[in-house]
Amino acid sequence: EDDANIEGEKKDPAPLAGVNVMNVIVVAVECAPWSKTGGLGDVVGALPKALARRGHRVMVVVPKYGNYSEAQDVGVRKYYKVSGQDMEVNYLHAYIDGVDFVFIDSPIFRHRENSIYGGERPDILKRMILLCKVAVEVPWYVPCGGVCYGDGNLAFIANDWHTALLPVYLKAFYRDNGLMKYARSVLVIHNIAHQGRGPPDDFLHMDLPDHYMDLFKLYDPVGGDHCNIFAAGIKTADQVVTVSHGYAWEIKTSEGGWGLHNIINENGWKLRGIVNGIDTTEWNPKYDVHLKSDGYTNYTLETLETGKPQCKAALQRELGLTVQDNVPLLAFIGRLDGQKGVDLIAEAIHWIVSQDVQLVMLGMGRRDLEDMLKKFESQYHNKVRCWVGFSVRLAHRITAGADILIMPSRFEPCGLNQLYAMKYGTIPVVHAVGGLRDTVVQFDPLRETGLGWTFDRAETCKLIDTLGNSLKTYRYYKESWKGLQNRGMSQDLSWDNAAQHYEEVLVAAKYQW
Ligand code: ADP
Repeated sequence: EDDANIEGEKKDPAPLAGVNVMNVIVVAVECAPWSKTGGLGDVVGALPKALARRGHRVMVVVPKYGNYSEAQDVGVRKYYKVSGQDMEVNYLHAYIDGVDFVFIDSPIFRHRENSIYGGERPDILKRMILLCKVAVEVPWYVPCGGVCYGDGNLAFIANDWHTALLPVYLKAFYRDNGLMKYARSVLVIHNIAHQGRGPPDDFLHMDLPDHYMDLFKLYDPVGGDHCNIFAAGIKTADQVVTVSHGYAWEIKTSEGGWGLHNIINENGWKLRGIVNGIDTTEWNPKYDVHLKSDGYTNYTLETLETGKPQCKAALQRELGLTVQDNVPLLAFIGRLDGQKGVDLIAEAIHWIVSQDVQLVMLGMGRRDLEDMLKKFESQYHNKVRCWVGFSVRLAHRITAGADILIMPSRFEPCGLNQLYAMKYGTIPVVHAVGGLRDTVVQFDPLRETGLGWTFDRAETCKLIDTLGNSLKTYRYYKESWKGLQNRGMSQDLSWDNAAQHYEEVLVAAKYQW
């Protein structure tokens, strides 16, 4: 058997779903490796496979944005009305790692090459409406391996506001009319800051009965009276999941709920936090395909002491930094926006470059922040490299080559980069918020426990203080550093863990009525 497909550290296979075997359909606007702008794409690429390993029949439904060579046209054409306009869709299918991937093909998803969230308000809304309308009926019309899923014993997992209309459509068009009696819906909140807010008239595009309007209606001081898709989805879904325990708590507060905290509290009985897993084949220093060339190398806990320095040297060489093993290499990877706290790194930059360190940053997003990164690189060329753009390969290589990963996120529903970092023996320094608080246990030098460093307020002085502590440990307490790496790399961060919890939620939804 191909060694690369075996999860190295896992000893016992996850127990199977047994009597609770279900048909599960995961619906989202992005799915790695075909489409990804952030963590959502990673989750949608990996969770379904873990659910399939537990014995469920699992499908992913996502728009088709490009040409995917592995997908076959299933030869079914359907028409759906969106805002009074007939839209033709056809379906492509691929069966990979036990999961049926169904790609929805429609001209509306090809508005601009691969731009998932681009375009003006009514257009993006129409795309989400079409996706949800189509997805609910995929189990009726799209044969997978010759057989349609049908609507018995079925659970949809919708993701973020983009597909929050799915639970609403499932109820309004089908269940209210005695159809899809055994279908349930779970809505996953990956990020509550984006809610699909729009003018009250947005409701008219949705084709819903008038009495559904109240579900969408929301007033808050910032947006005034508006139409809120996430709100309607949260109220209608049978179960709601969010991607960490910390975030499940935060979105109930007025600071963390972004205007939806009251609705979250009212629906708290059906809310559960489940920390994301990671794809332990793709993000594993033992198998990582991006470490197989250009002087990088695969490594494990056993070969860490030679493997990681080799990756560090390769990274320094690739980016044109001085090759020095004893200089701590700091890294940041992430979308450049207010959430990720890059501005805190910016405020700390003078202090950082005054230390004997190197800093590598990878990100894209807001233009002003991209410009700022470019400026850092030219200003501090002997110590700093900033790569503006989206490069999965470089993300892997930085994760392997860096010593410390900085995540000063203002809020972070789960966060994946800190999980990847720990798997690669790279020590996270994070703001203790959301999923970062759940997953990065603060280092305790007396007991030699913990996984990294955390600071309790998103402030520059806190970041500097904490970074200072981590650098001291790196330089003077080599054994402690090894202990941190060892504990991080030995964790079971696989999706099998999380999938078991998702299954509990699916079962809860199934027996809800
Ligand atoms: P979010 O979903 O808020 O963007 P996460 O930490 O959950 O944050 O996931 C981010 C994912 O996107 C990770 O897989 C990370 O490696 C990847 N990523 C973010 N920015 C870039 C980039 N510029 N190039 C490559 N990968 C990136």
